[in-house]
Amino acid sequence: MNLNTITELKRPSSLADIGVWRDGYSFLAGGTWLFSEPQVAVDTLIDLESMGWTSLSATESGLEIAATCRVAELHAFVTPPAWQAASLFHDCINAFLMSFKIWNAATIGGNICMSLPAGAMISLTAALEGVCTLWPQNGPPREVSVVDFVTGDHQNVLQHGELMRSIHLPASALAKRAAMRQVSLTQLGRSAALVLATVAEDGSDFLLTVTAATPRPIQLRFTAFPTTDELRHALDRRLPLDAYFQDVHGSAAYRQHITPYLAEQIRAELA
Ligand SMILES: Cc1cc2nc3c(=O)[nH]c(=O)nc-3n(C[C@H](O)[C@H](O)[C@H](O)COP(=O)(O)OP(=O)(O)OC[C@H]3O[C@@H](n4cnc5c(N)ncnc54)[C@H](O)[C@@H]3O)c2cc1C
Repeated sequence: MNLNTITELKRPSSLADIGVWRDGYSFLAGGTWLFSEPQVAVDTLIDLESMGWTSLSATESGLEIAATCRVAELHAFVTPPAWQAASLFHDCINAFLMSFKIWNAATIGGNICMSLPAGAMISLTAALEGVCTLWPQNGPPREVSVVDFVTGDHQNVLQHGELMRSIHLPASALAKRAAMRQVSLTQLGRSAALVLATVAEDGSDFLLTVTAATPRPIQLRFTAFPTTDELRHALDRRLPLDAYFQDVHGSAAYRQHITPYLAEQIRAELA
């Protein structure tokens, strides 16, 4: 839709070009959410594309994903064979409810900053132990894990005018084995639950990540590979009924029922 409150479009090449942050400013990434509803409080869009950040850089330490990297670019990226958990890239991207336009325009940073429970790029980067680099308006860059970045439904730790620069996925997480399950109430519907796990080659360091079923990502880490009962009890302890998310895409009771079921499927697959 046309945003008829916008009077200025800034195309900065650095943070300094943006100047002092004020109410009415908004960062523009892919624009798939920004242009999907009226933004009456916004008069100036700050287009992040002009920052010219390299979308994806693979190094020995892992994968650096610029916040402006498009979902389609990550889908097309060829990863080193040792990064077994990169199979989750396609799994999570395919779980993201999107049209052709969103697929090609939405960015990884935009999806994480939206901080919706069904943010599939949150699921992906949280499960792969991603760490966000954030650029505050005043002060040095800071790092926050993806799992701590999202604090609730459409809520996160970004401060006024703070920019997400990138997300780092460590090679140690990418080298693990991984599995994922997702359910929606309707075919191709928004996720009611999206559960992932990674595990080291020797069966240690089993990391379960619950997303979409809860307002924010929840992680359970097991030093040794858990049994069915250990996994179930840990989930029940950590996630009582009121910890589950409830909306038209699934009741809290349904999500509480389906999450341990999916988690056990993943456990069995990785066992
Ligand atoms: C039909 C439809 C279906 C959708 N389905 C889903 C879905 O299933 N799951 C889901 O999660 N979302 C969904 N969305 C919402 C949205 O399209 C996605 O979350 C998308 O990934 C947002 O990315 P973007 O790059 O387009 O962000 P934008 O729309 O450009 O920005 C989104 C918000 O994040 C801020 N922002 C963006 N980048 C940064 C940055 N680097 N630093 C700081 N702030 C930033 C913007 O200021 C804005 O407030 C849907 C939208 C539509 C219209």
